[in-house]
Amino acid sequence: MKRILFLMSDTGGGHRAAAEAIRAALLTRYDADVELVDVFRKYSPVPWKYMPELYPWLVNHSKSSWGMGYKLLDTHRSAKTAARGMYLTMESHLKQMIRENPADAIVSVHSVITRPSMHAMLSQQKRPPFVVVVTDLVTTPMFWYDRRAEHTFVPTQTAFDRGIKAGLQSHQMSITGLPVHPNFIKSIPEKQEARQALGWDSTLPTILIVGGGEGMGPIFKNAQAINALRLPCQLAVIAGRNRQLKQQLEETTWNQPTHIYGFVKDMPRLMGAADVLITKAGPSTICEACIAGLPMILYDAIPGQEDGNVTFVVENGAGAFCPSPYEVADTVADWLHGGQRRLNQLSRNARRIARPDAVWDIADQVWRFAQLGQIQNPRRSFLKELQEDMADLAKQLTSNGT
Ligand code: UDP
Repeated sequence: MKRILFLMSDTGGGHRAAAEAIRAALLTRYDADVELVDVFRKYSPVPWKYMPELYPWLVNHSKSSWGMGYKLLDTHRSAKTAARGMYLTMESHLKQMIRENPADAIVSVHSVITRPSMHAMLSQQKRPPFVVVVTDLVTTPMFWYDRRAEHTFVPTQTAFDRGIKAGLQSHQMSITGLPVHPNFIKSIPEKQEARQALGWDSTLPTILIVGGGEGMGPIFKNAQAINALRLPCQLAVIAGRNRQLKQQLEETTWNQPTHIYGFVKDMPRLMGAADVLITKAGPSTICEACIAGLPMILYDAIPGQEDGNVTFVVENGAGAFCPSPYEVADTVADWLHGGQRRLNQLSRNARRIARPDAVWDIADQVWRFAQLGQIQNPRRSFLKELQEDMADLAKQLTSNGT
């Protein structure tokens, strides 16, 4: 039996979703022992420890600073230096993580913790193979790319090209698509069956609204704008872990049948039952919707890391970007007016860019890496590397004229 350790964190729902998807595929095909660890929560000092709690607040309330941070760190050098700084604050915790979690392969599914974890691995005499599964879709943060990792799995060509820009060689990466849980793929029910199981109207077109695991963005305003148009449809709104939003939705009087949910565990059924998805541009949600053949109206994107997701969906004809509730409602009205033919066309476009096999391809490769045995680390001087990073950063700042 081989032990595989996934490095993730519950900052949003996508990292855990990806790790659990690959774990399920590994357990189906192989005799694997798979462990998931939330690196921020379990092996980081304050303030990193509270990242799972801080993340939704940061991306909801300081969007422009988040976007600025993305831009500042959008070069290989700046990301490398920031990661080194982060490592200095996390070093003893990360080393403890390595001691407490011996493994035959390490898989990072989180951008920010990839490089600091790799540093910690390299501080040992030996280490297991280290692979990275990029869970952002298109405009992937530079933190993802570490030349010293054995392999990096990326979801799209643009993510691959960014890896090349970050100094990886093409043989160090594979374009696989984003891993979606095997259960998701196999348990998308037929539409009428799903609606019946959910107790929804079987005849009305159905609009599903979700804002990632945390219920982020103007979900309530979007639902209200649709409500105001009194369209011949039904609404299903998922508030995720956002309790306040759920309460607000439950206290509202709706003009059409409206079903309210907190965090749901049967997303395949809800997506299978819907005709249109209104969502923020979360990578996992987008990929799941594509597999379910569900056209999307994207109302928001986390600046930087999710901007490219919007282009991906819109350019492939799988949906529209509508940054205001009025545009969201108008687009719903327009799509419904186009009838089943219009919805079917959009649905086909979404399905065309789906990669349902990604999870199996990645699991097979991870398993292969777990067979390689421990890798002897080269001797290295941390201080020398730090000096090189600082010199790199100085060069970059000079060339930017800042
Ligand atoms: N999700 C879920 N139940 C919910 C809301 C979301 O299972 O009530 C899942 C969703 O299906 C997706 C993930 O959470 O797999 C959200 O990931 P995404 O990358 O779209 O957004 P994030 O939450 O990471 O910003």
